[in-house]
Amino acid sequence: MHDPNCIFCKIIAGDIPSQKVYEDEELFAFRDIRPAAPVHFLVVPKVHVPSMAQVSAEHAPVLGRLMTKIPALALEQGCNPYPDGGYRVVVNTGVDGGQEVHHLHVHVMGGPRPWRVG
Ligand code: 5GP
Ligand code: ZN
Repeated sequence: MHDPNCIFCKIIAGDIPSQKVYEDEELFAFRDIRPAAPVHFLVVPKVHVPSMAQVSAEHAPVLGRLMTKIPALALEQGCNPYPDGGYRVVVNTGVDGGQEVHHLHVHVMGGPRPWRVG
């Protein structure tokens, strides 16, 4: 369920401080410590799943809830409305995917350009 060595499990547990954006019984969202865009937060399932590569049908409910929370959270956090605004939703997976933290997380990036990443 939880990995004692996982930095995001520690953030979810409150053992490492974070700027929380949202929390419910299954989900946790917090600002990225190194934002790549004016708005940049991460949404994670509380259950420790290492990456998208381990996702299976049993995760469909929690990941469905995660994805459907994003539109409201993005606007609350300052992303401008679609279509002139909008945001980028990214799940880096594995080394080739650029994943650094191995607890499944969804990046939500938005706000006025230019961004640190293209
Ligand atoms: P990845 O490259 O794994 O998709 O992204 C990991 C993200 O987690 C990075 O954007 C990085 O800035 C962020 N991050 C890493 N450690 C921490 C931390 O301790 N606190 C917060 N808030 N973000 C972190
Ligand atoms: Zn974890």
